Amino acid sequence: MNILVIGSGGREHAMVWRLAQSPRLTRLYCAPGNGGIAQQATCVPIAAEDVAGLKAFVQREGIDLTVVGPEAPLAAGIADEFRKAKLKIFGPTALAAQVESSKIFTKELLTSHQIPTARAQSFDQVEPALAYLRDQPLPIVIKADGLAQGKGVVVATTAAQAEDAVRDSLERHLFGAAGRRVLIEQFLDGEELTVMAVTDGKTVIPMLPAQDHKRVGDGDTGPNTGGMGAYAPAPLGSAALIERVQRTVLQPTVDALSRMGRPFQGVLYAGLMIVKGEPYVLEFNARLGDPETQAVLPLLKTDLVDVIEAVVEHRLDQCRIEWHPLTAVCVVLTSGGYPGSYRHGCPISGLAAARQDDGHHTIVFHAGTAVTDGSLVTAGGRVLGVTGLGSTLLEARERAYAAVRPIQFDGRHFRTDIAMRALRQSRA
Ligand code: ATP
Repeated sequence: MNILVIGSGGREHAMVWRLAQSPRLTRLYCAPGNGGIAQQATCVPIAAEDVAGLKAFVQREGIDLTVVGPEAPLAAGIADEFRKAKLKIFGPTALAAQVESSKIFTKELLTSHQIPTARAQSFDQVEPALAYLRDQPLPIVIKADGLAQGKGVVVATTAAQAEDAVRDSLERHLFGAAGRRVLIEQFLDGEELTVMAVTDGKTVIPMLPAQDHKRVGDGDTGPNTGGMGAYAPAPLGSAALIERVQRTVLQPTVDALSRMGRPFQGVLYAGLMIVKGEPYVLEFNARLGDPETQAVLPLLKTDLVDVIEAVVEHRLDQCRIEWHPLTAVCVVLTSGGYPGSYRHGCPISGLAAARQDDGHHTIVFHAGTAVTDGSLVTAGGRVLGVTGLGSTLLEARERAYAAVRPIQFDGRHFRTDIAMRALRQSRA
C-alpha cells in the first residue's frame, strides 16, 4: 500500500515512524515532512494547506491512502475534496472538523446534547460581553471562537484582564475572523486529561489517555506553547474514568455529529478537565495531538495501517486495538526564545549518542528540523521530541532524559519536570 502523510511536525514524524513499521506498506511519502521524517519517508515539497497540489500528487503517484496530521487542511476541506474524487483519506470533513475550528459550534453541540462542559455565553458585541462579565465570578475564561493557534484563550484572574481579552478579540481584532465572536466561559478547577479516540462515525475507540505540559517553564510557569512534553498512559485516566468519558462524551458527540449530517471519521481529540472525578469537555480537536501522539503511538501494538483502514472503510466495529503494557514519556526540545522569536539554522549534534541504547527504548522524533548542506539544523520553535519507554513512568522518564542530555544546539531548552506531577501523585 502507498501512503501519504500530510504535515511536518513531531506528530507527523510519530505517524510516519509507526506506519513505516507496517508489513503492509509499499511506499511512504510525507508532504512536506522535515529533516527526521526524510529518513523514513520520501518528503515531497507540497504545503499541508495546498489541497489541489496534494490531490494532484496523490492521483499521479497512485497513493492508496492519505493520512492528515494538522488541522488547517481539514478546516480547508481536504477530506471533502478527496472523498469527492474517490480518494481514501483519514480525517474528518470540514463540517465535522468544526468541532475544532469553531468553539461556539462545539459549545452549542455539547449543551444541546447534555454533554458535560463549562457553562458559557457567546458574544459578538463588546458592550453586552462586558455587561455579562460584570456578573461573573473570577477567574473567568475568554475564548476567541476560531482557530488562533492556542493564543485565543485567556484565563483571566482580574476584571481588567477579562475586559482586555474581550476587547482584543471583538474590538482590536487581534485574531482576525477567528475572534469575531467570543465565548465567556466558567472557570473549571481540576486536572486536565487528553483522550484521543479513533472513530468511523459510528464506533468510537478511545486510545490511551495522555497528559501534556503547555507552559514553557518548569512548574507550569511562563507563556503557553504548542506543548513541551507528554506522557501516556496518564495514571489519572483510570479504566473507570475512560469508560465514563466514552459513555458521556465521546460516543454522544460522535452520534450527535452523525445525526446532524456531519459524520466524523478520523481522530476526535477530547481535551478534558477532570473535576472531582467527573470529566468536562474543554475543547475538541479534529486530529491527533502534538506532543501526545509522540507518547501514545509508540505504545500501539496493532498495525496503525489496519486501524486507519478500518476507519476509512467504516468497519471499526471489527477492529481490536491493542497496546503494549508500557509507559511513554516525551520531552520536547525547543529553540531558545520559543514561543517568542527564535533563531533558525542552528546545527544539531548528539543524536547518535541519544540513540545509543538498544534502540527500543528511546525514539527521537523531529519537529522543527531541516537538512541544509548535508547537516541537520533547527528550523522551528519545537525542534525535537524525545520519547522514552519503560515498564514504569519513572523508568520511561529516566530513559527520555538520558537521551535528551547529549543532544545539543544553540539555545536548546527543555522542561526538566515532564511527568513529575504524576510521579509525585503515584508516590503519595
Ligand atoms: P490548544 O492550544 O490546545 O488548541 P485552544 O486554544 O484550543 O488550545 P483550549 O484548549 O480551549 O484552547 O484552552 C487552552 C487552555 O486553557 C486549556 O488547556 C486549559 O488549561 C485552559 N482552559 C480552557 N478552558 C478552561 C476552563 N473552562 N476552565 C479552566 N481552564 C480552562
